[in-house]
Amino acid sequence: MARHQHRVRVESLGERMTLGAAELKHLQVLRLRPGDTVQVFDGQGAAGEAELTQLDAFGAALTLRGRSEISREYPQPVTLATALLKGDKLADVVRAGTELGAATFQLLNTRYADVPQIGDNKLARLRRVAEEAAKQSQRTVVPQVLAPLPLAQFRPEGQVFYAHPGSPAQLLQAVTWQAPLTLVSGPEGGFSPKDLAQLEKLGAQAVTLGPRILRAETAPLALLGALASSGM
Ligand code: SAM
Repeated sequence: MARHQHRVRVESLGERMTLGAAELKHLQVLRLRPGDTVQVFDGQGAAGEAELTQLDAFGAALTLRGRSEISREYPQPVTLATALLKGDKLADVVRAGTELGAATFQLLNTRYADVPQIGDNKLARLRRVAEEAAKQSQRTVVPQVLAPLPLAQFRPEGQVFYAHPGSPAQLLQAVTWQAPLTLVSGPEGGFSPKDLAQLEKLGAQAVTLGPRILRAETAPLALLGALASSGM
């Protein structure tokens, strides 16, 4: 049994691995020592157990002791495309959405988006939130958080669904898991007629989240929650 089960992100899994400054500092704070064992993952699906062979002011080195075959990912990559939201709401969506298995977050600028853009600092913060949430939820994949795109330029692959109040279709009944999946949710003001026409053009199917109107930060998590409830 390993003495320590801390999770450390490495650039890629190999016989011998070295750590960047951020991870090194983290290990020092945790007071780990050479000989301790940690869980390693590369953020792209590979994970394993490694022994800390060196930890000093100059850096940290790890030796791989075994690879893990456990997968916590859906059978197909799931993209959550969410309209730009105000304040900390996007961070909440990225944090919980990572726990719920999204592989990619695509931020969308829709007609009634709460804000027209977000700054580089905010985007960098959302990426850190995704990395922390991936560690916490023991995922081996750290979701990508992609810079905002106008809905008109969005070109999702595979099955595409968008949450729209009053739609008769249900997500779980329509998902086939035969292709990548994209779930789209709107801003507080909903989708405009032009947004809806664009979604139709993309072949996206409208789905319900029940008879109640959910806040714009709740709806994307309800979409992912529906997938998670399938046990995948
Ligand atoms: N008045 C807006 C409308 O009719 O679309 C309400 C927008 S709602 C606050 C924000 C977003 O959450 C919507 O654009 C939609 O994507 C999603 N949403 C909220 N409640 C929903 C429901 N019951 N069914 C499907 N989607 C919902």
